[in-house]
Amino acid sequence: MKPADGTAIDTDVAVIGAGPAGLFAAFQLGLQELSVHVVDSLPHAGGQCAELYPDKPIYDVPGWPACSGHELTQGLLRQLEPLHVPLHLGQVVQALQALPSASAEDEAPRWWLQTDGGLDLHARAVVIAAGVGAFLPRPLAVPELQRWEGQQVFYRDPPPAAWLDRRVVVVGGTAAAVQLALRVADSGAASVTLLHRHDRFAIDAELDAQLQSAIGAGWIRLALGQPIGALADDAGQLQALEVATATDERYSLPLEVLLPRLGLHPRLGPLAHWGLALQRKHLVVDATTLQTSQPGLYAVGDITHYPGKRKLIVCAFHEATLAALAITEQLRGAPVPLEYTTTSPRLLARLGRLPTAARP
Ligand SMILES: Cc1cc2nc3c(=O)[nH]c(=O)nc-3n(C[C@H](O)[C@H](O)[C@H](O)COP(=O)(O)OP(=O)(O)OC[C@H]3O[C@@H](n4cnc5c(N)ncnc54)[C@H](O)[C@@H]3O)c2cc1C
Repeated sequence: MKPADGTAIDTDVAVIGAGPAGLFAAFQLGLQELSVHVVDSLPHAGGQCAELYPDKPIYDVPGWPACSGHELTQGLLRQLEPLHVPLHLGQVVQALQALPSASAEDEAPRWWLQTDGGLDLHARAVVIAAGVGAFLPRPLAVPELQRWEGQQVFYRDPPPAAWLDRRVVVVGGTAAAVQLALRVADSGAASVTLLHRHDRFAIDAELDAQLQSAIGAGWIRLALGQPIGALADDAGQLQALEVATATDERYSLPLEVLLPRLGLHPRLGPLAHWGLALQRKHLVVDATTLQTSQPGLYAVGDITHYPGKRKLIVCAFHEATLAALAITEQLRGAPVPLEYTTTSPRLLARLGRLPTAARP
């Protein structure tokens, strides 16, 4: 880990995870006039609701007889808008550690977060809203490919220059794989091969029609089988995948750029190494404040464990509210009075709902 070098963003609170728990915690913290930054490994907000069931109706969010995962996410984002909270998406928080105190009197630790995208945050408190873990690309089961990651093998979409005039292989049978193959074929690759175990894809009829038309026109070639090895040329560049078919025939597939798109899966990953008390991969918290075993570090939502914990969105909202108020009290060193968004001029002003003349 590199040391903090003065380029870090200073904030009151950093929130890890932009699922329902993290988004609502950010809202409650912003309402209390704290500065907040949110980080998520996914390229979009919404956590499980957006990634696992965007179109499925949810029937037990209070006040919404039915809303889809996508609608709930959009509602949470709209609610957050007036508070101008920056979201740093597509970045995994890899490191979280206490910063050395500035002086002997400075007792409250500040926290340093670092992402794999090069973002450094210094925060006075941290909310871990990591759900079932960071959603990360499922890797190909060919370990030797790791040495070309970031140069010829890309698990996240690289800029189009990476595939310009190159022979590209996209691996996977998901909509994301097919959409990427179509995009690459349409934007300057020398050739595009879509490699999948079989010729059935988990895509809707419209996307299937586009794929069949691109195959028919020769813009995309279909290859069947599973990658089992990699071949390098004399200069050490990746030059081909070794592929095994369903009937165990072997062939090599030449390429210059490899784009595996096998879907995302949640992994606890770095969080397990932050020295926090865990109970069967969940963070142990005090149910009244949502503080973890480390003062200044809080956790909300599916990642938490306390007696009676239920992994439900409504419980995540309750936890986010209690954590935000506990953090506010910790940072201000004073109790936070109960205020209603219907009647408090201060809260209404925060939300931009008070006529300017009436602002406190
Ligand atoms: C199929 C399905 C149906 C469901 N239906 C319902 C329902 O009807 N009603 C209900 O109440 N609940 C339902 N749930 C449960 C509900 O989705 C979860 O309780 C809720 O999503 C938890 O929110 P969260 O914010 O705690 O976690 P998540 O939604 O999991 O969000 C956590 C976020 O943190 C990010 N993250 C984790 N670690 C890192 C890191 N190190 N760096 C950066 N980002 C990180 C992840 O990428 C993720 O986006 C359902 C769940 C599933 C799977």
